[in-house]
Amino acid sequence: MAAPTAPVGPLTVGQLYTDAAGFVEYTPGTAPLVLVAPHGGTLAPSGVPDRSCGGCVTAADLNTQELTRAVADTFLARTGVRPHLIINRLHRRKFDGNRDRDEATGGTRALDTTWLWMHAAIDSARQRVRLASLRGLLVDVHGHGHDIPRLELGYLLSATSLRQDDASLTATAAMGASSMARLASDARQPGDRGVALLRGPNSLGALLVARGVPAVPSPTDPAPRTGDDYFSGGYNTERHGSLNGTALDAVQVESHFAGIRDSAAARGAFAAKLVDALLVFLERHYGWTRQP
Ligand SMILES: [Zn+2]
Repeated sequence: MAAPTAPVGPLTVGQLYTDAAGFVEYTPGTAPLVLVAPHGGTLAPSGVPDRSCGGCVTAADLNTQELTRAVADTFLARTGVRPHLIINRLHRRKFDGNRDRDEATGGTRALDTTWLWMHAAIDSARQRVRLASLRGLLVDVHGHGHDIPRLELGYLLSATSLRQDDASLTATAAMGASSMARLASDARQPGDRGVALLRGPNSLGALLVARGVPAVPSPTDPAPRTGDDYFSGGYNTERHGSLNGTALDAVQVESHFAGIRDSAAARGAFAAKLVDALLVFLERHYGWTRQP
């Protein structure tokens, strides 16, 4: 198995690192929270060909880079502890930070090193969490253009799966195939395990709804209805979540635009609510509280 090409460490917390081309950046933290913005890039250097793969999505998730930075800044300001931050600076028509290598690069081999570097950075973040004997959460930050203005929380379970009732999901061990597989089996409070992590009272969806941000799945909106558009997660949640029993669980957070990421004020307000929810989540499920 080829060794990852870059971030392994020792790395300096709070220092900005980039790949050689400056297309992807990583700022290491010490909190068990890894923030990734794979689709919010704006750089479009003429020397990098546009991705030409058939069916490739090339539309960026507008303002999600700024949103992710706001979440990182807010978390640091609230706690004095820095989360890990990984940003793809390239526009999605050049590079997709949430796809396997061929689709991410569109076959532009010069971007292979960027792709390897980005995932090596996430691997390094997870390693730091693990070496600190911590467990934590990776949040892959996206934006959707769907009709219903609500967060779509993706755990690798399809809308069809989510439309099953809790008993059916439990009977089929659905959470074992989710990006929260490990936490679903061993959350600190037994009542939070399994399907409760999707839409129970201490799920991320519940914590966000309680702060005025609509979200699916959540206790009040347990599943997308038939015909609703819904993103269930992607490459990053699958590769970097806890399907393989690693130290990080993962969730893909797809946000609507208006009032969430359309202005700096909206991003700041939403970041405050998301950080508030994440702090409760990290303490409740992983036992982590701010320890500068
Ligand atoms: Zn996206």
